[in-house]
Amino acid sequence: MSTEPETRNPPSPRLRQAGPDPGTAIGLSPAVARALESALAGRGISAEAALELARSAPLDELLFAAGRVREAHFGNRLHCCSILSVKTGRCSENCGFCAQSGHHATDVRPTELLDDPAVRRAAQEARDNRASAMGLVSSGCGPAGAHFEDYCARLESVRDEGLSVHASLGLIDAAHARRLAALGVTVYNHNLESARSFFGEICTTHGYDDRLATLEALREAGIARCCGGIFGLGESWEQRVELAAELARLGIERVPINFLHPIPGTPFENRPLLPAREALRIVAVFRLMLPKALIQVCGGRELVLGHLQPLAFAAGATGVILGNYLTTKGRPAIEDLVMFRDLGLELATDEHR
Ligand code: SF4
Repeated sequence: MSTEPETRNPPSPRLRQAGPDPGTAIGLSPAVARALESALAGRGISAEAALELARSAPLDELLFAAGRVREAHFGNRLHCCSILSVKTGRCSENCGFCAQSGHHATDVRPTELLDDPAVRRAAQEARDNRASAMGLVSSGCGPAGAHFEDYCARLESVRDEGLSVHASLGLIDAAHARRLAALGVTVYNHNLESARSFFGEICTTHGYDDRLATLEALREAGIARCCGGIFGLGESWEQRVELAAELARLGIERVPINFLHPIPGTPFENRPLLPAREALRIVAVFRLMLPKALIQVCGGRELVLGHLQPLAFAAGATGVILGNYLTTKGRPAIEDLVMFRDLGLELATDEHR
């Protein structure tokens, strides 16, 4: 059942044109006005304040505040990337939402590591779609010993095609992180997925601390950490806010927000889809808790937000994944590029660190 409170109509043009004192002067409720002031100053709101907003703030006010914070810190610039699954399926781990886990009977067809020409073709296509970066993603717990250098070679191919190189290869140690930094990986995705207090409901084959150790190795190597989660698994609002507070504590630079796309054969196959308005509320609360982090709306965007996708940016998102996801199709990149143009948003060509 939706936890979305009743709200008023979307923000009016008058609200959008409000001056530099956007809080009480235009009638925001005090809690939203306080959150806006704090986040505009670059201070994320507390977990307690976030929980209050999540539960009771009108959605139009939350969107107004989150959109102002995005504009203040990022202007009209978006950071988008494309991802490519270089090895799919047969994962040893049992993450309950994931089609690639070898523990679940899904339709995913496993592949070995993609060859170099295929990676180069995908990088060229990403460039044609105006992505400035491409992330290579592999299923599995982490890059196994001797094969690690094979992954490095594929990442170097992306670099040589003129794109910023992002990677998501699972758990890695400090030596792996240093090697990736040396070859030019600027961003590494490794999600915490959910709050520590909910993680045991998602995965039992590795622990939250394993994921934190990888994030620490990345930090030490100077690689930007792209770390967020997936929502709609049955987690509570307290647990959503707990995750955001953990990301704030870690100083995470990029936060992907995924919405569950229930995959037949996985333990979460029968979970109901998140209502679009609740999904927007999650993005807005994360924006107010993490005012200076990039927030990218990723998997499940089209399915969950549907016609409300443009509101993701009002809710504070600073990017999306262009093109397809790992095991599900995204919409054609051209549709997103037209949406950005119509919203007056521009794709950044530089790397935000
Ligand atoms: S989310 Fe990653 S670690 Fe978990 S099952 Fe899927 S591929 Fe494996």
